[in-house]
Amino acid sequence: MRDVIVIGAGAAGSVCAGELSKRGFSVALLEKDVPGKAICAGGIGPRIYEILKLPNKVIEKYVYRVNVYSPNSKISIKLKKPNASIYREKFDKFLAERAVDNGTELFTSTLALDIKRNKVITKKKEFKGKVIVCADGVNSLLSKFRREKQLLAITKEYEIKNVEETDYHIFYINGLGPLGYGWIIPKKNAVTLGVLGFIGHLNGNISFYLDYLLKEHPLCSKMLSKGKITQTKGAMIPYKASKQMVFGNKIGVGDAVGLTSPLTGGGIYYASLSGGLAANVIAKNLEIGYDLKNYEKEWRKTHGKSISMQWKLNILLRKLWTDKGWDICLRKISKNKEFSKILASSWATYKFEKKSVWLKTFALILWNLFINKF
Ligand SMILES: Cc1cc2nc3c(=O)[nH]c(=O)nc-3n(C[C@H](O)[C@H](O)[C@H](O)COP(=O)(O)OP(=O)(O)OC[C@H]3O[C@@H](n4cnc5c(N)ncnc54)[C@H](O)[C@@H]3O)c2cc1C
Repeated sequence: MRDVIVIGAGAAGSVCAGELSKRGFSVALLEKDVPGKAICAGGIGPRIYEILKLPNKVIEKYVYRVNVYSPNSKISIKLKKPNASIYREKFDKFLAERAVDNGTELFTSTLALDIKRNKVITKKKEFKGKVIVCADGVNSLLSKFRREKQLLAITKEYEIKNVEETDYHIFYINGLGPLGYGWIIPKKNAVTLGVLGFIGHLNGNISFYLDYLLKEHPLCSKMLSKGKITQTKGAMIPYKASKQMVFGNKIGVGDAVGLTSPLTGGGIYYASLSGGLAANVIAKNLEIGYDLKNYEKEWRKTHGKSISMQWKLNILLRKLWTDKGWDICLRKISKNKEFSKILASSWATYKFEKKSVWLKTFALILWNLFINKF
C-alpha cells in the first residue's frame, strides 16, 4: 500500500503529489490521458507563476495590459507586474514532471473508475493508498460522496492562429446573462477566444456569443479578422466551492470541489493552492495523525476567504444584474483610475488588499445596478 493515491494530473493533482513526494511519502499519480489535456484559456496572474516558480520556457507570453469592454465603455489598465499566458500542454506537463522528479510515480492512460475505501479501481489494476486525493476536475469521482449541488458555468473556445496580440481583452456583451463574458488571451502568434455563461442565467446558446465575438463584435472581430481557427473546445467550470471537501480518507482539491473564482471562473490559482495545502495536511496526518478534516478549516481560514467574498458578490450581482446597468457601471468606473485598476487587475490576480478602494468600487457597482434594476 502506498501513502497517497492522487487521481488527476492537472495543476491541483501534480502540485499535491509533488509536495508529498518531496517529503518522502510514496505517491501514485493517476492520469486518464497524459498531463495537459485540460481545456483552458491559459490566463494566469503573477501570483501563480511566482508560487509555482514557473520557468520562462513554460510561459507563452507576459501580458502588461488588461482591457475590459462593455457595449459603451472601455477600461484599459497597465499592470505593474505582468499577467501571463500558458498552454496547458506545457504547463501541466511541467508540473507533472516536477512531481516525478520529486519521486511521484505517474501512471498515464490510467482512468480511475471508482473509489472503494482505500482502493482506487482502474481498468488495469487497483491502487491502494492510506489517503486518496481527488484532483480529477469538474466531473470528479467525489460526486458520489457529495450531497451539495454543483453550480456550473458553460464555456466555449476557439484557438486562433495568425493573430499577433499583446493584451488580455475581456468583453461584456448583451444577452450573455449575469457575469457572463468573453475573452482574448494572447499566445505566440495566436490567441484563445472564449466565452463563459452561468448555467440558468444564459440567454440562448453559448456558441452564438462566441461567433458574435468572432464575426460581429465591432472591436473583437477586427482584431481577429486575419486569424485562422485551429481548434474548437468547450467544458464546464464549477463556480461554487463545496462546503465538504474531506470524506473519510478522501480529500478533494481544485475543480473537484469547486475551488474557482465565482466571479471569473479562473481556477488554476486555487487549484495550485489547494493542492499545496492538502499536501501539508496529509503529511501531518501520516506523520502524527493530524485530522484530515483540518484541511477544510485551514482552507476557510486562508484562501477560502477570498472565494467566499467573491461568492457573496456573485449572488448580489446576479440578483441586481441588467445589461444596461452593468454597462453604466463600467462607464462610471472607467472615469476613475483607482476603480478601473481594481476591476481590471482582479482578472487573474484576485488581489483584494486595497480594501477601501475595492469596497468603494463595488459599492458604486451595486448602487448603479440597484437603481437601474428598480
Ligand atoms: C474554457 C475554459 C477556460 C479556462 N480558462 C482559465 C484561465 O484562463 N485561467 C484560469 O486560472 N482558469 C481557467 N479555467 C479554469 C481552470 O482550467 C480550472 O479551474 C483548473 O484547470 C482546475 O485545475 P484542476 O487540477 O483542479 O483540474 P483539471 O485541470 O481539470 O485537471 C484534472 C485532471 O484529472 C484528469 N482526470 C479526470 N478524471 C480522471 C479520472 N477519473 N482518472 C484519472 N484522471 C482523471 C484529467 O485528465 C485532468 O488532467 C478555464 C476553464 C475552462 C473550461
